[in-house]
Amino acid sequence: TQFSDLGLAAPIMKALAEEGYVTPTPIQAQAIPYVLAGRDLLGIAQTGTGKTAAFALPILQRLAADRRQPVRKSCRALILSPTRELAIQIAESFKTYGRHLGLRVTLAFGGVPLGAQIRALSGGVDVVVATPGRLIDHLDTGAIRLDQVEMIVLDEADHMLDMGFIHAVKRIVRSLPHQRQTLFFSATMPREIGQLAGDMLRDPARVEV
Ligand code: AMP
Repeated sequence: TQFSDLGLAAPIMKALAEEGYVTPTPIQAQAIPYVLAGRDLLGIAQTGTGKTAAFALPILQRLAADRRQPVRKSCRALILSPTRELAIQIAESFKTYGRHLGLRVTLAFGGVPLGAQIRALSGGVDVVVATPGRLIDHLDTGAIRLDQVEMIVLDEADHMLDMGFIHAVKRIVRSLPHQRQTLFFSATMPREIGQLAGDMLRDPARVEV
């Protein structure tokens, strides 16, 4: 499989060429068609497999194919990461692959002042990459609302459990619209994570690498 077989739009193909990406990794080749088709996805994959692009590329494509006016304090795609380091990497990936699309990507993680994040969210953005604790803070203060979310990614779900974020994640999920696309990634599937996946996903395609 080549990237050109996956039906990605020209501005995304251009960014991939600029990054020197030639061939999709196995998780990308398997996952991208399902995500583009609007399916929920259960991805069993570790870091280093190219899983970030496996969700970022089709999400960018779906956002760009159906542009919407920003809604105040809202986002269309929400990516949850267990750590700030991973959140930063994910946001960088969205910015890199989306550099010819003109979409707005914002980060929200803990340990830094709220003000800049609140301002960045206020006008509404296309993609928010967040850690669960800080996202709850923004929900509680009304800095963000999740009723416009069309796509949610839970990345490294097993690490969410390890880091004690499982209740925060469940609360965030309860704030999401029922009508949405959910992408759920985990390297392992302990019982509690399998249950969370079952609660969050609707008829998911399953991809394992
Ligand atoms: P990830 O598993 O998402 O953390 O990605 C691991 C690394 O592989 C990152 O540095 C990506 O930039 C790189 N990468 C992802 N997909 C590809 C690809 N198809 N071709 C070349 N490099 C890639």
